[in-house]
Amino acid sequence: MPALARQLAGLGGCTNPVRLDGHRTEYDIDTRTGEIGNLLHRLDSATLPAGHLLVRCNNRRATRCAACAEVYRRDTFQLITAGLRGGKGTPDQVATHPRVFATFTAPGFGPVHNRRTDGRACRCGLRHDQEDAVLGTPLDPDTYDYEAAVLWNAHAGALWRRFSIYLRREVAKRAGLTQRTFRDHARVSFAKVAEYQKRGAVHFHAVIRLDGPEGGDTPPPAWATAELLTDAIRAAVTASRVEGPVIDGRAHSFTFGRQLDVRPIRSADFDDGQELTERAVAAYIAKYATKGAETTTGTLDRPIRFLAELAQARISDHARRLIRTAWTLGARKDLEHLRLRAWAHMLGFRGHFSTKSRRYSTTLGALRTARADWRRAQTAPPVPQAGETTLVLAHWVFAGTGLSAAETWLAATLEPAPGTEGEPTA
Ligand SMILES: [Zn+2]
Ligand SMILES: [Zn+2]
Repeated sequence: MPALARQLAGLGGCTNPVRLDGHRTEYDIDTRTGEIGNLLHRLDSATLPAGHLLVRCNNRRATRCAACAEVYRRDTFQLITAGLRGGKGTPDQVATHPRVFATFTAPGFGPVHNRRTDGRACRCGLRHDQEDAVLGTPLDPDTYDYEAAVLWNAHAGALWRRFSIYLRREVAKRAGLTQRTFRDHARVSFAKVAEYQKRGAVHFHAVIRLDGPEGGDTPPPAWATAELLTDAIRAAVTASRVEGPVIDGRAHSFTFGRQLDVRPIRSADFDDGQELTERAVAAYIAKYATKGAETTTGTLDRPIRFLAELAQARISDHARRLIRTAWTLGARKDLEHLRLRAWAHMLGFRGHFSTKSRRYSTTLGALRTARADWRRAQTAPPVPQAGETTLVLAHWVFAGTGLSAAETWLAATLEPAPGTEGEPTA
């Protein structure tokens, strides 16, 4: 029992681990002779207390695995923070580079119930409570443009890529540089996260930074300011457009909505309580990285296989219509590349939730590897001597997911393993 408890504790609270059958065997190798030496370590799943090797599910969604989503949120926080004030291999100077936090919205697809900031009533005549389920749902579902709403989500990733190309162009233009010579002077890097609005449209939050020619390691040129960057972002957003499909004689074309918010990010040192700080930005992005459409729009957190499943699902009529629209459009041959049926539960959006340009900061993979190395160092056999190296033979096969009833009970009695980093949970 204590051994099983120890194995379960290693999951850090994951409630839906992957179970693997197999082994991992380490030998040392004499680099002079190239011969296999001693057996250093052997891990055999059959000898483990649970009978399998248990690996965290690493699901990003808080509705699927709270513990793994929390790890993902913390990692995202670290990744964003590293790009804002350095750390994890990114130099501290990035804190002095021009940086903004920008929010890109979708256009309107028809009037929806909302809470107005000026205190006036919604167009329906009511003043909605913050928790009101009708918020974000159409005033008139029959005239709401569901087709365009779903197709916009499906093209949001392409629209972002177009924007990022135009942004470099607009920055270069303002610096009096050609696109070809721009790279010799500066780089634009970013990290972004996709979030669903209540109405079911994806929007993006992004940290965008101006660096010198070699990225974060090099100081940006004198002309690089947050004002220039902001101006270039506005121009690039206005210019960005992606041509979509023609459906029943209607040519779709996609742009960002007119609502665009761009704010400079200040270092915490200069914060007087009014400015947007690095910490606030990182916490905000990290929080949304663990949410899918199921959280704000109230749709499903996994793909559907048959449209009939919708009848059983406890979701809003608005979400149901969005999913149904995606499903129906998904039958069209000319829209095959959008894979609308596979992504119907995501209301058409099939992009990555959080993405970043190569030079922004570290990667989620690097953070995971560092954590795994740290764990292994706590339990591993002694490091091989100099002049030798190790040969690792491993073979694992999938044996299922989840915990048995007894394991679930035991896991629930355990304290969750402490987190790897100490940032706030807000
Ligand atoms: Zn998990
Ligand atoms: Zn209303």
